[in-house]
Amino acid sequence: MSRPVLARIDLAALHHNLRVARRHAGGSRLLAVVKANAYGHGIARIAETLAAAGVDAFGVAGIEEALAIRDAGVRQPIVLLEGCFSPAEHAELVPHRLEPVIHALYQVEAFLDHPPEAPVPVWLKLDTGMHRLGLDPEAFARARELLAGHPAVSALRVLSHLCCADEPERPETERQLARFEACTQGLGMERSLANSAALVRYPAARYEWVRPGILLYGGSPLAGVSASALELRPVMTLETRIIAIRDLAPGEAVGYGAHWRATRPSRIGVAAIGYGDGYPRHAPEATPVLVDGERVPLVGRVSMDMITLDLTHHPRARLGDRVVLWGEGLPVEEVAQQAGTLNYELLCGVASRVHVRYESDSDTRLEQDELPQAG
Ligand SMILES: *Cc1c(COP(=O)(O)O)cnc(C)c1O
Repeated sequence: MSRPVLARIDLAALHHNLRVARRHAGGSRLLAVVKANAYGHGIARIAETLAAAGVDAFGVAGIEEALAIRDAGVRQPIVLLEGCFSPAEHAELVPHRLEPVIHALYQVEAFLDHPPEAPVPVWLKLDTGMHRLGLDPEAFARARELLAGHPAVSALRVLSHLCCADEPERPETERQLARFEACTQGLGMERSLANSAALVRYPAARYEWVRPGILLYGGSPLAGVSASALELRPVMTLETRIIAIRDLAPGEAVGYGAHWRATRPSRIGVAAIGYGDGYPRHAPEATPVLVDGERVPLVGRVSMDMITLDLTHHPRARLGDRVVLWGEGLPVEEVAQQAGTLNYELLCGVASRVHVRYESDSDTRLEQDELPQAG
């Protein structure tokens, strides 16, 4: 018996979303972004599955994530999207087949002062308008001079990141596309620009490599567009169980701060999940939750380990019922919008104490046997 909070990971949905990504990618190679523990889905198993499905490379935020993928047996190249954080990391590039991004001239100097012992592919990051990481066009030209043909560089590639591709008709995106094209055309470098949003919305941004993240996990990358409209399927379903049911009289309150008060006789269900599991503490009253497949509203404040639900209009609800917080039947985007955040943050924020179960087409559903049944 264990606490019934579970992140169910549907690997068939991951395969499906990968097919959607490939369809949008045309002939471009696919660099699957698996940073932040594969957006909360578990980096080892996700990378292993994507690698077996033939993605061309992986993108991570740091070397620890890269090594986790290598330990899982993945052979594809791995790109360090923020580059190396110290010259000591250059020694890890060759043995682990890692490809650094270089986003600033100080990283060029560090690379030249402490080159890896054999040539590696290097990605120059060009700032086309996001103004977070990246070389401006002048520094980009300088970095190319220093690194093109250098014995420690086997290939010099270029990437840039878009700031507004998730929103329609933002002039920034067209401007970034134009700047990227102007700075890189005719250089003979392999290029990469598209994140998930651009992959779906801007075919001109495909170039040689596309870099989808959220789309692979079945999250919508586009503001105001549902995942299902993009034919994506949720990979994660976060679920738990009802562990208590109680009746409140009018005037009685529930939870911290006695925040929500019954105005009529009310039936309240307590579900074992809270912000300590990654459910957003700021989810307001009426945020939808599925109990036994039916939508019910959240009431009262989200606690660390529990939430309270109004079951008054769901008389069939019973102790031990399955509760879905997001995933199959309840898009994570809807919960994120209620809580004033993004699907990205909710998925990444699933806590390490949450059990993770990987399921593929052939797996039988075992939850009735494996999870504690209250009542
Ligand atoms: C995170 C990241 C991506 C993936 O972004 P999504 O919006 O999840 O598709 C692509 N490129 C870079 C450089 C990133 O940091």
